[in-house]
Amino acid sequence: MAVNASFVADDLPPLPSYVLTPREPLFPPVPDNIVALILPILAYWGVSMIFHCIDVYDYFPQYRLHTPAELLKRNHVSRADVVRDVILQQVIQTIAGFSVTYFDGPECIGREEYDVAVWARRIRMTQRIVPGFLGLLGVDSLGLSKNLSNFPALSAALAGGFYPDLWQTSVLENGREIVTPAFAGWELTLAQFIYSYFIPALQFLIAILIVDTWQYFWHRAMHLNRWLYVSKRAAVKFHSRHHRLYVPYAFGALYNHPVEGFLLDTAGAGVAFLITGLTPRQSMWFFTMSTIKTVDDHCGYHFPWDPLQLITSNNSAYHDIHHQSWGIKTNFSQPFFIFWDRLMGTRWEGDVTLRYERARAAAEKQVERERQENNGEDINCVLDSEPGPLDAGSEDMSSQEKPPLKIIPRATRSASRRVHGVNGSIRQK
Ligand SMILES: [Zn+2]
Ligand SMILES: [Zn+2]
Repeated sequence: MAVNASFVADDLPPLPSYVLTPREPLFPPVPDNIVALILPILAYWGVSMIFHCIDVYDYFPQYRLHTPAELLKRNHVSRADVVRDVILQQVIQTIAGFSVTYFDGPECIGREEYDVAVWARRIRMTQRIVPGFLGLLGVDSLGLSKNLSNFPALSAALAGGFYPDLWQTSVLENGREIVTPAFAGWELTLAQFIYSYFIPALQFLIAILIVDTWQYFWHRAMHLNRWLYVSKRAAVKFHSRHHRLYVPYAFGALYNHPVEGFLLDTAGAGVAFLITGLTPRQSMWFFTMSTIKTVDDHCGYHFPWDPLQLITSNNSAYHDIHHQSWGIKTNFSQPFFIFWDRLMGTRWEGDVTLRYERARAAAEKQVERERQENNGEDINCVLDSEPGPLDAGSEDMSSQEKPPLKIIPRATRSASRRVHGVNGSIRQK
């Protein structure tokens, strides 16, 4: 093994030398950091179009959260405006992402063996404190080590990480051969596991917690601070724009005011990326999966077989409550987990069955009435009886009902006379 002379210590296995080489892009010649910016956009529109087709062709009416009549009557924005604003946000997001990664050099590979050896050394160093630590508990670690001599790895670890039989021949950079201590097999296996799986998983988990925390407090502030929600005098409508969608659909997930889109989504993802030190390959996964999760949360369907809706309680049914005028000051958590809503007491607690049914019935009634008045033609104007996004949320959170938490929307007849609505209960964990 070639080793760097400066990393050879008396009683520790040496660290191997390494040569860095640029990593080949995943889709040459496009650099990975650019792919990490493009993939979430492709995923957004790709997954959205799947849900859009399900909606247009009405493939799963039994799993709809809202009927087509509600889609027609309750939203305060056209689909064309939604597409325009989403594209604007994605342009801003791409420019911001490009700016953050522009000064980064190409990702290099070649020091994996070195990094694993660094972790193996940390494991060896940790063993040094075992006798002292067990001594505090009144355990004779060295005596125990001798009694366990039939288990060499355990015996050596209890002795403080001394492996008298483990040696190797190493070659210094000047060509001279020396005999040095070697790592035990278990130390290298554990180090490889930490390097390849534990650290990346920890990075993803911390990134998720950062995004959830960032989004919860900004989102909540946008509802509690009237200026951030909407300022009638200044004609600035930040978060209220997203709430023009009372009946969310997949490609409306990123329908936001550009300032809000940058602050909540782009900046939150950027902070998570910088703090956790995600590599371009990791950020491809993270940004793409969080985009798909956000789309899924707005898809308008509660599928019993959708893994994204099963792995956490934060799913389309949960977020849909936040899009209703009566639930708008609850369920702020987005996009992964709901622990902030639980901790801060902002989780919707109540049976929503009647509220959903009322909204369905009102939309159905209006569609029927307008059809009769206009000789069978649909007129695309919003419900007379529903508050606009500027007035929504006037109900106080404390006035929520507190019966057992469940949503059991009953199947109702839509404008097209097909049976729509979630068939059975939507379980809220
Ligand atoms: Zn909101
Ligand atoms: Zn939303």
